[in-house]
Amino acid sequence: MKGKLIIFSAPSGAGKTTIVKQMLDLELNLEFSISACTREKRFNEINGKDYYFISVQEFKKKIKENEFIEWEEVYEGVFYGTLKSEINRITDKGKNVVFDIDVKGGINIKNLYKDDALSIFVMPPSIKHLEERLKNRSTDSLETIKKRLRKAELELQYADRFDRVIINDNLEKAVKEAKNTILEFLEK
Ligand code: 5GP
Repeated sequence: MKGKLIIFSAPSGAGKTTIVKQMLDLELNLEFSISACTREKRFNEINGKDYYFISVQEFKKKIKENEFIEWEEVYEGVFYGTLKSEINRITDKGKNVVFDIDVKGGINIKNLYKDDALSIFVMPPSIKHLEERLKNRSTDSLETIKKRLRKAELELQYADRFDRVIINDNLEKAVKEAKNTILEFLEK
């Protein structure tokens, strides 16, 4: 395989996206895997950069046509998935792929790619912290935040299925740990 895969999974609000963005700025030959998703675009997001925003109908067509390596109905009626073409787009350039995906998706990709993949679970210091981060982000409604917290409680139970757990109680420390873990993996 040309490039390796680095998977970041975490409950929503654990700070995973911030860590991923910082990893992409390092000279590690990484590129972000842009997922397809059916939720509404947030005001600060760009189609084709953060996600490929598509309709539920289009998403279901892609499932039928076997275009996904994995997909999940992450929230009721809201679909997210990694397109096979996206992995090829990045590995064909000889680059390593970085994923920001939910816990189930992360476990699935790790199982498929085994030693070619590194799976990292970003752990929030507590559920209370998570709630505060989601509220401060002010991109989601209270109802959405409640849904995300319920899901987070379930997701925390899967941390031990990952190659590495990074506790994000201090961003700078977490970023350093993520970087060192990736370097070690890429040098193997
Ligand atoms: P958000 O709506 O906050 O951008 O993402 C919600 C959740 O969906 C996050 O945990 C995010 O990592 C996850 N997610 C994003 N893309 C994918 C994907 O392609 N597959 C899966 N399984 N989850 C994804």
